[in-house]
Amino acid sequence: MVIEPALKRTSISYPTTPSELIDHAIEYSKTIKLPIDISVIHWTISRRATKRAACCKFSPGSPDILISLTWKAFQAYGWEKFKSIIRHELIHVWEYQTYGSTSHGSLFKEKAQQLDAPLHCDAFCSPRFYLICKNKDCQWKTIRHRASKTVTHPFHFYRCRKCGSPYTVEHVGTSIRWNTHLEYRRARKKIGIHW
Ligand SMILES: [Zn+2]
Ligand SMILES: [Zn+2]
Repeated sequence: MVIEPALKRTSISYPTTPSELIDHAIEYSKTIKLPIDISVIHWTISRRATKRAACCKFSPGSPDILISLTWKAFQAYGWEKFKSIIRHELIHVWEYQTYGSTSHGSLFKEKAQQLDAPLHCDAFCSPRFYLICKNKDCQWKTIRHRASKTVTHPFHFYRCRKCGSPYTVEHVGTSIRWNTHLEYRRARKKIGIHW
């Protein structure tokens, strides 16, 4: 006969401070069934008032990932619901580590359903675009969050900040690239709802 060990804690502990929220998030992320390397995740708390519950930031050329958790969102949602936000962010980590980019596309949706995570984060703030210098000796690469003119009008008006060569723009979610405004317009059409 197997005797179940008695529960050590009679009540479940919930985070009450930002540092406890980080500790809980780290422990919780270890329990999620996703083949991800959580050792490269850096966790931080955002105290600024914002509509974002959390967000993931990826740095080009580095495996490091920053997940920022919004303290006010946690206070509004409570730990149980906030865990689903953490699952959402970890799906981004999984997609990024597995495929090199992440979006809210079909792969994401499938995993989100499996893990019962929300499909949308209010503002997904991982970079949307890379600007990549075409001069192979230069290695200049930078990110853009918005479709500014450097994104929509490469070549015509803008050059690599480091060496002055033309650069390629890459849409992070789909990996579609363009070099000119005309190519951008074609790409924009192709990307469609995944823009
Ligand atoms: Zn998201
Ligand atoms: Zn360059």
